[in-house]
Amino acid sequence: MLDISPIHAFQDNYIWVMSRPNQPHCLLVDPGDATVVNQYLQQTGKQLLGILITHHHADHTGGLAQLKQQWPEVRIIGPEAEQHKIPLLTETVADNSIIHFPELNWHCQTLQVPGHTAGHVAYYSADVLFCGDTLFSGGCGRLFEGTPAQMLQSLQRLAHLPSTTKVYCTHEYTLTNLRFACEVEPDNLDLLDYQQQSQLKRQNNQETLPSNLALEKKINPFLRCENIALQHKFKQSSALELFTYLRAAKDQFKS
Ligand SMILES: [Zn+2]
Repeated sequence: MLDISPIHAFQDNYIWVMSRPNQPHCLLVDPGDATVVNQYLQQTGKQLLGILITHHHADHTGGLAQLKQQWPEVRIIGPEAEQHKIPLLTETVADNSIIHFPELNWHCQTLQVPGHTAGHVAYYSADVLFCGDTLFSGGCGRLFEGTPAQMLQSLQRLAHLPSTTKVYCTHEYTLTNLRFACEVEPDNLDLLDYQQQSQLKRQNNQETLPSNLALEKKINPFLRCENIALQHKFKQSSALELFTYLRAAKDQFKS
């Protein structure tokens, strides 16, 4: 059994940590802060085997220098297209790279998903998706370096993974995203139901993540741009037009 749990960092980041019970190693995804990682490692006694980086932003990479100093043998894997911005990478990946961690009996595949940044990658292994700042629960990342067409294509690619796939994104943005989603689709009962569940979780200080693709396809407006009725509602004539419209509206949205 693979165990995946969040280390909380900054305001609303999750650093996902993967391990197996009774095995000494662990893997991290996007360690923006070494201090909270070290607290976890001290508490659990786990050894740091590898790090997966989705993109170059500091809140995803800020802990690398210190962790590399403490664990000189650690494998640090990240996107080839952003290696000039992430100088500590020990291995680079492009689209459809396969990464093996024999010590954990685990492997994953990369998917190039540009949009939030130009070289953003996601890591996929049966039923597990680490998608960084591309897909969020109820939303998607801002377009800092990519075009709407790139981001829409990236999201569609993720949406075509098996619907049982669990979505481990990097930020707890769910409630804010769902407030926007409810403005887009106020009559979507799945959405209203999920919003209620998510509010309860947050009131109890629980993470709303991971989400899953079956749910996201029902409630996430950015995965629903193919919906003709929704396109008509906002007077847009294609999935790309609707996506572009919604992403711009979300950028302006005050929750
Ligand atoms: Zn980012």
